[in-house]
Amino acid sequence: MSDCEWGRPCTCRECCTQFRQEICPMCGFENVVELEGTGEFRTDNKGMRYAEITPPTGDPMNLECFKCSHVIINVKFYSRISILACESKINRDEINESSRPCDDCNKKIRYSIGGYQSIELFEHNGKYVCKECLSERIKKENQDPTNRDEKYIFDSRELKWVLSKVRVHCETCGKSRWLLQENSWKKQCSSCYKMA
Ligand SMILES: [Zn+2]
Ligand SMILES: [Zn+2]
Ligand SMILES: [Zn+2]
Ligand SMILES: [Zn+2]
Repeated sequence: MSDCEWGRPCTCRECCTQFRQEICPMCGFENVVELEGTGEFRTDNKGMRYAEITPPTGDPMNLECFKCSHVIINVKFYSRISILACESKINRDEINESSRPCDDCNKKIRYSIGGYQSIELFEHNGKYVCKECLSERIKKENQDPTNRDEKYIFDSRELKWVLSKVRVHCETCGKSRWLLQENSWKKQCSSCYKMA
């Protein structure tokens, strides 16, 4: 296990690498390049160890755009093009171009562990909306049925109001109290129950 996973000063290759964007003047693609620096451990005046990262230096170079192959001349020195980061951006752009946005919030894509994905849309009264917006719409369209003796909450997964608490009168003392729906069978309040 490398030190960097614990937030300690570290000079491994990953911790010494910074990223920079180079936008292609031909196609507008945001190329990502890596700058692999060198790291050295130092101690500050309080005795704390830290890693000092020195970025690499060198003459300006050419960069072949990862998307359209146009050669961008004389960009600042870089170590290498970041293939992973560029592929991820291409993937994001492709999904973005082919996706329909949510009619309410305009979102098109989301990022999850597996990469970028288009947002799932649901048809609702002639509109196409994402799950969150669908939930908001249904919540607004259906009045909260809460009354004197029942409290409802909106379940955004089930997309409906569900009974959460009920007001029950104690059989012994007659006082009313709010109980969770699943406890509504309890006939006595807790003080009467303890006395019995
Ligand atoms: Zn590290
Ligand atoms: Zn390009
Ligand atoms: Zn939405
Ligand atoms: Zn009671």
